[in-house]
Amino acid sequence: MRLILVEDEPDLGVAVKQALSHQAYIVDWFLDGTQAWSYLEDHWTQYTLAIFDWMLPGLSGIELCRRLRGKKSPLPVLMLTAKDRMEEKIIGLDSGADDYLIKPFRMPELLARLRALQRRSPHFQPQQLQVGSLMLDYATHSATRIHPQAEKRTIALTAKEFQLLEYLMQHPNQILTRDQILNQLWEIGEEPVSNVVAAQVRLLRRKLGDDNSNPLIENIYGVGYRLNSSA
Ligand code: CA
Repeated sequence: MRLILVEDEPDLGVAVKQALSHQAYIVDWFLDGTQAWSYLEDHWTQYTLAIFDWMLPGLSGIELCRRLRGKKSPLPVLMLTAKDRMEEKIIGLDSGADDYLIKPFRMPELLARLRALQRRSPHFQPQQLQVGSLMLDYATHSATRIHPQAEKRTIALTAKEFQLLEYLMQHPNQILTRDQILNQLWEIGEEPVSNVVAAQVRLLRRKLGDDNSNPLIENIYGVGYRLNSSA
């Protein structure tokens, strides 16, 4: 799940990004409304959720909402604001925001609001994702292999392993290139080392007990990776 955060207060931005990363969200954080829009305009379909602060340098959070809705984007938007007067709330909702959080707020409340927005959104994430013998659990960030003849094995995953497996499982039997995986799983501005995808896939395969005779995650040499739904 990828999320865009536009917040110009550095301390708050760092805290929110950290809290969300712990929940395995991939967070692109912008400090300025105009810069955020220049990216978001062509990339909003990458995101599952948006968090906009109301008062921003450049374009305001309200203007970002208006422009998104002007592009017919259904991306759920949570507005952060220090304003709690009724008429301002109405302006925000009219501009297309889905929910509000008044500053200062506690992180558990932010996370709960985001979960609620996700449940109502067209990009709704299921509680579990199953492909072939593999089940991914969003609540526990774990994977389970279901073999008819073998014992069920549940494997705890790190945030990155979870994101990688989720992405592969969302595209079963399709080849995903290293660049696609990098663009999907690493945040804007992060510069991962060149073999990071290969290293992550290796770790994940080892954890899943993936064997080479009938691999679940296939290495398509020189191209990318494919999740085999019949493994
Ligand atoms: Ca602000």
